[in-house]
Amino acid sequence: MPWYKKLHWQIILGLVLGLIYGVIAASQGWVKFTSDWITPFGTIFINALKLIGVPLVLGSLVTGVASLSDIKKLSRIGGRTILIYVSTTIVAVTIGLVIVNVVRPGDRVPEQMRLELQETYSADVERREAAATETRDRGPLAMFVDMVPDNFFSSASNNRNMLQVVIISIVLGIGLIQLPQEKAKPLVDVFDSLSHVVIRLVDLIMKMAPIGVFALIGGTITSVTGDDPSQILQLLGALGFYMMTVVGGMILHIIFTYGFLLKTMTPLSFKTFYQGIAPAQLVAFSTSSSGATLPVTMERVEEKLGASEEVSSFVLPLGATINMDGTALYQAVAAVFIAQSLGMGLSIGAQLTIVLTAVMASIGTPAVPGAGIIMLVIILESVGVPSAGIALILGVDRILDMLRTVTNITGDATVACVVAHAEGELRAPDLSEENDRMVSHR
Ligand code: ASP
Repeated sequence: MPWYKKLHWQIILGLVLGLIYGVIAASQGWVKFTSDWITPFGTIFINALKLIGVPLVLGSLVTGVASLSDIKKLSRIGGRTILIYVSTTIVAVTIGLVIVNVVRPGDRVPEQMRLELQETYSADVERREAAATETRDRGPLAMFVDMVPDNFFSSASNNRNMLQVVIISIVLGIGLIQLPQEKAKPLVDVFDSLSHVVIRLVDLIMKMAPIGVFALIGGTITSVTGDDPSQILQLLGALGFYMMTVVGGMILHIIFTYGFLLKTMTPLSFKTFYQGIAPAQLVAFSTSSSGATLPVTMERVEEKLGASEEVSSFVLPLGATINMDGTALYQAVAAVFIAQSLGMGLSIGAQLTIVLTAVMASIGTPAVPGAGIIMLVIILESVGVPSAGIALILGVDRILDMLRTVTNITGDATVACVVAHAEGELRAPDLSEENDRMVSHR
């Protein structure tokens, strides 16, 4: 098959054309045209992915849990998954802290730019502070209370409640394991069939990915720069070191931490893994949402990398909601960067507090665009840095959001392969061309 027929090349093409279009549109002042005629295609693409999120989690997770022969296996897989998720997040935060302390990007922001940034974004800061206060005022156990919904339909009606859907599905699956086989089978079959049909739909939706990605990137550029693209260049100049620190940290984490896990705990080579997962990374980059990317991540990990449905349908939905290494790393760097640029030193104690709060905050961050910066406010407050300081970084947050989402889903996929291999449930990967047309084999 010629290279241009391969999905990931088509998506990359959409991305590059979207970038070019975005820059031209912003410099020509086509903001209204873009939001009327281009952005809607991106919105349709994201909506279609989000639409299948709840049925996918429900169908595959219930089937996944119900097919585990016993609760022991479930707790083994669950325990291992959570352990690796939390450890990799701690490593990510540590990498972030080390590099931000070495590079010290906060010392390089010119005084004038700092004042301007604070002024420009003061209204945005207030909005995010209000959202953060709401989250924080609910007490330390609120996170656990939130996990248990009081009504199934209200959870399933909002994609922000994905963690609740995950919990409901696990509980339902456990209930089904405990029923006699003939009683459980009809319902398990329904969920099984649901998960299969949804994976089919991912194939269909992904046909639209190149256009969707084009529209999302083009639309993002024009909405971020408005009619004044020169402003973005100035921002990039002042915040360049900060951005490089975040991106450098994420690259190190991807190469070393995930590379180490893949090399020592799976038979997959780097190349195979990235070939398999690339389309999901591209979708994550253009949607900035690990939640919206979940259907694609699951499809790739199961069908291309060979993880069993049983493992991937448990590990990935959980990961999309609680495992966010990119977000945690970014939050650590951003917190120290803001402190540095406001001329405040942070003690070792304060940095340890950042490790703890960033790990917790990334678990609590919803898998949607821009969520990481709201949780950042809570981290800043926990170490006594004025949260208004987020004004400094708001302008470039969207770009970093795209990259941290890529890191987040790469982490989920890595852990899914590690857990699948540990369970003896990682088939040989299938990256054949036939399969590249996104034909479902199941
Ligand atoms: N957009 C990120 C995600 O969905 C969360 C964040 O804002 O860091 O993974």
